[in-house]
Amino acid sequence: MSGCSQSPIDLGVAVPSEPLDLAIDYSPSVHHGHDAGTTHNVPVSSGHSISYGGRGYELDSYHFHTPSEHSIAGEFAAAEIHLVHTNAAGDVAVLGVLVDEKEEAAGPLHFGEPTSIESLLPDTTTHYAYEGSLTRPPYTEGVVWIVMKERITRRPEWIETFKEQYGANNRPLQPLNGRTVTLG
Ligand SMILES: [Zn+2]
Repeated sequence: MSGCSQSPIDLGVAVPSEPLDLAIDYSPSVHHGHDAGTTHNVPVSSGHSISYGGRGYELDSYHFHTPSEHSIAGEFAAAEIHLVHTNAAGDVAVLGVLVDEKEEAAGPLHFGEPTSIESLLPDTTTHYAYEGSLTRPPYTEGVVWIVMKERITRRPEWIETFKEQYGANNRPLQPLNGRTVTLG
């Protein structure tokens, strides 16, 4: 099943690097999600894309993890959002957004409350990048991981309502096995 380039990993090993060009082109729109067993999954209609390192990807769906799956030097965030993109060539790119809990945060009280898609993104595009895998079966490798350095915030109620329904649904950290993680 799983090989030697699995996700998630600790990103604290990142090396500052000249980043690949990242352009996020999401149109303001609201999508409705559903209970997908281990997480809340939100399918997305067409019309949202990213360009990364000269390759284009279309956004297919997004979902949530608590606590975060990726850690930074051993520290996990309260939650992590995964925006899953694919393209006609079969490439997969996942954009990860770490979520900190904040008492007075803007945004919804409940994770399932439909929110406009661009509210899931931080303001800046500095990001960690590495090659890894899906973090759910079938753990397919060759996934381009882009984890945003800047985080978004959500209220404690948002985190709590997720945990009440799904508990901790983060996959354990996987060995780096010599891979390079960049930050830029
Ligand atoms: Zn995920």
